[in-house]
This record gives sequence, structure tokens and C-alpha cells, in this order.
Amino acid sequence: MKFKDMNLREQTLVALTKMGYESPTDVQEKVIPLIIKGGNVVARSKTGTGKTAAFGVGIIERLASNTTEKALVLAPTRELVLQVSDELKKIAANYPIKVVAVYGGYSINPQISALRKGVNILVATPGRLLDHTERRTVNLSQFNIVVLDEADRMLDMGFKDEMDRVMAQIPANRTVLLLSATVDEAIMSAASRYMGKPEIVEIGEKETPKMIKEEFIEATKAEKFSKLKIILKQHKNDKAIVFTSTKMFANRLADRLLQNGFKADRLHGDMSQAARENVLKKFHKDLIHILVATDVAARGLHIEDVGLIVNYDQAKDSDTHLHRVGRTGRMGAEGKAITFAERQETKEERFRDDHPDFAWMKGGPQPPKRRRSHRK
Ligand code: AMP
Repeated sequence: MKFKDMNLREQTLVALTKMGYESPTDVQEKVIPLIIKGGNVVARSKTGTGKTAAFGVGIIERLASNTTEKALVLAPTRELVLQVSDELKKIAANYPIKVVAVYGGYSINPQISALRKGVNILVATPGRLLDHTERRTVNLSQFNIVVLDEADRMLDMGFKDEMDRVMAQIPANRTVLLLSATVDEAIMSAASRYMGKPEIVEIGEKETPKMIKEEFIEATKAEKFSKLKIILKQHKNDKAIVFTSTKMFANRLADRLLQNGFKADRLHGDMSQAARENVLKKFHKDLIHILVATDVAARGLHIEDVGLIVNYDQAKDSDTHLHRVGRTGRMGAEGKAITFAERQETKEERFRDDHPDFAWMKGGPQPPKRRRSHRK
């Protein structure tokens, strides 16, 4: 099969030839005709299989035949947004189709100027896109085709709420294309929220699902630290991420671990971008072994070979829990997640001589001053 046998427009074929694409890949052969026909699609396909041109050729053919249509492509990272928009620009080179990329981490003003000139295909990261909708520099009700690229990674990075908020602003009469390296329950549940019955296309071998062993440990607030030390010693060969509920606790816990001889550091939202990158580099190089993190800071983290997750403070909801736990479990190797289920201490435990809050009486460190509320 060649692209010229696929009933594509001449302008598309010329562009594809210029790009050096002569024959469609598997995913392209299956997905392009489905998109042209107007169907919703869920495609299981990894990066490197030609998925960008699969949805790219499909939506550009549709936009070329109906100039009132507009497409939105959501992707998890700035890098992917740029890569996708470059490829779409090349495929659309012979049409008056404007492709605009918007992504976080960079000034919003040049993006606003680009949007003012008009857009047919908008490629965006979810957070920055919502910034634009709030400033009214993007009106999502104009878009009737949505592509969710690397949807599993977007969910993995905690973008579920943002994706839901974006989809709520897209007209109901829409075409949705979801691409993902893995198709599991979370993906199918997103698919059922966002689209009518999809065509399902599966390309290549299924990835081995992550193997994560979960364990729950009961502990009172006062017991947690000594139990954590035992766990970390038992897993001394694993890189670990320990989650706390607030930035202040993350700081305090990282300090206590350091005082106890652990190679630990912290990652939270009060740190500068440079400081965070520095900590991640050290964690990556194994110069630190334990990262004490808050949820916001751990968002989007893609760290290989984390063997252990500890929920020192329990997650506020099940989505956050799943996101935390998903930081472990390397492909093919088993990961472990331990969650402290906090229980009230009994009166006897509270007044025992060896209670950590009374250690200062025996010359130990002063207990931290209690505050009423802590910022996240
Ligand atoms: P993707 O999966 O979209 O990231 O694409 C992976 C790589 O395959 C990219 O470098 C594309 O330029 C290339 N590619 C995609 N489709 C084709 C094709 N039909 N023929 C040759 N190369 C392709």
C-alpha cells in the first residue's frame, strides 16, 4: 500500500512525498480512513509508529474539505507539542491551514499574537490552554475535532482535571481521536467520558503492564517516622519517593532523614525551578536516594527506576493516590508502594515515656511547634 492509493488530496500527497513518506505505517493505514469518515478513534500505538502523521493526515484532509472545521491537539509536554506542530505544518504546507502551538513555561504574549492571526489547528499542553481560555484568547467552542495525543501520559502526569475542563468546553457534536501507548481502564473511562462509541485500533505488541505491590501499614502520627526509617533501610537498594501533604512537612521530613544519615532531599512548590532541577539531577544520578515530595511538585515527574513509593501522608483522593503509586513499577520490574494508614493513638501511647513528643525531656530534640494550618 502507498499513500497514493489512499484517496488523499493531491496537496497532501505532494507534502508527504516532500517529507519522504511514501508508504503509510500500520497505524496510518488504519487510522487515516477512519478519521476521514468522521469516526471517533481510540488507537493504541507507541511513539515511533508514525502516529503523528496518522492523525495529522486524517485531520488535515478533513479541514481541507471543510474549512469551517478546526482541530485541537492536546499533548502532555512542550517538547511533544513542538514536535507535533512541526510535523502538522509540513503536512499542511500546501493548504491555507494555520497551525499554532501553545505550551507552558514560556511567555504567553507571543502565543496570544499568533492566535490573533487565526488558527485552524491548535496544538497545546492542557494547563497553558486553560490559561488561554481564561484570558479569552482561545474560544474552545470553535473546535470540533480533538486529538488527545499520548493520553496515557497526560493522565499519568495528573492532567485528568484539565482534560475534563477542556473537553467540557468543546461542542458536543465533535470527533475525538485518542492515542495512547497503553489502553487500560483509565484510558477507556476517559474515552467513554469524551466520545461516543469509538473505533478501536491496536498496533503492535501490548506493553507489559506495570507490576506494583501495594501495602498499607497502620501507624500513629508519632510512630510514622521510626517505621519509615525501617522501611527505607529494608529498601536501601531502591530509589524512593516519600509523599507528604504539605511543603512544610516535606522540608521537615527531609531534614530529619538527613539527620538520620539518609541520602535524602526535598521537592516542593516553594523551590525555584533551578533548585528543583538540581534535586532531580542528583536523584537521577543517585547522589540522593530518597526524594521527599509534595503532589504538586511530583506532577509530571518521569523518573526511571523508582523502586519504592511511601505515602507518609495519605493522598487526598484516589486519583492522587494512583498518580503517586504510578511513579514506581518499572517496565517488567516490580515496584512497591507503602501507605501509612494513620490511626489515633490511644491514651496510654500518648503518655508513654518514650513518646517522640517527650524525647526532649531526656535531652532529645525539641518537638516542633504546632501550627493550626499548613499551606499546601
Ligand atoms: P511518530 O510516531 O509520529 O513520532 O513518528 C515516528 C517517526 O517516523 C518520525 O520520525 C516520522 O518522521 C517517521 N514517519 C512517520 N510516518 C512515516 C512514513 N509513512 N514513512 C516514513 N517515515 C515516517
